[in-house]
Amino acid sequence: MLNKDSLFVLLWFRVFCKLFFSFGGKVAVPEVFVFRFVLLFVFWATAAFPVRANESALWGKTPKIAVVIDDLGLNKKATEAVIRLPAPLTLSFMAYADDLDDVTERAATAGHELFLHVPMEPVGSAYPGAGALRAAMSDNELRGALDVALSAFSGYVGINNHMGSLLTADRRAMDVVAGELKPRNLIFLDSLTSPSSVAATAAAAAGLRYAVRDVFLDHVQRRKEILENLRQLEHKAERNGFAVGIGHPHPLTIAILKEWIPEALRRGFDFVPVSAIAHTTDAVYP
Ligand SMILES: [Zn+2]
Repeated sequence: MLNKDSLFVLLWFRVFCKLFFSFGGKVAVPEVFVFRFVLLFVFWATAAFPVRANESALWGKTPKIAVVIDDLGLNKKATEAVIRLPAPLTLSFMAYADDLDDVTERAATAGHELFLHVPMEPVGSAYPGAGALRAAMSDNELRGALDVALSAFSGYVGINNHMGSLLTADRRAMDVVAGELKPRNLIFLDSLTSPSSVAATAAAAAGLRYAVRDVFLDHVQRRKEILENLRQLEHKAERNGFAVGIGHPHPLTIAILKEWIPEALRRGFDFVPVSAIAHTTDAVYP
């Protein structure tokens, strides 16, 4: 693939060749062969050294990054600090949190996208929270629990799972969830808390728009690890055209995002809400 630098090199070399040969320079190899050699070299070099984000941006392929912050609405102070981060982020509010109407409206007014964070049963004994969807529930019980969660507030464009390593690996349960989301035109973002998750498969089968988490930003609350995760997020966006990172309203995460977002923008990344990169099976690259 050619980038702008290699084209400049090519153009200047062409000009140089023209001048050199028209002023009677004597070289054993004909001009056309030298030019072809350089052309081959440039093709090799651009393949060997991948195009950076800001260069691909110039060529109309800006890598898109969606940053999702979930578990919101429980800690008021932390939630307000997240809302003050540069928009657009995707803010996912916990379905069982109280009084979400005002805070979600403020988040939307600040330019963020709203998601609903739905508690789902994990593997093991950790408590996923009130009203969680559980694998032992019948289809009707799952629908009922999801309906309660969906009434937490309004204005969200999709849901993502809180915990759920057991439930998202259960195809029957995921088919029921996808079946409920489809008529409401909601997106499913798979937080991917289990490598055996079938959430995306069920969403695709139901014709939903869906996305899958690429990187967890802050499972380890240390600056070095969070920065490394953000670097990984950038690499995935450069490689695939888009990437989804999920973080949480920890003070350190918020402080680092505040510094990193403007830097990543300067490096040529585009920040988008998850809905901008959610896809169906028909359109893998949105
Ligand atoms: Zn969560």
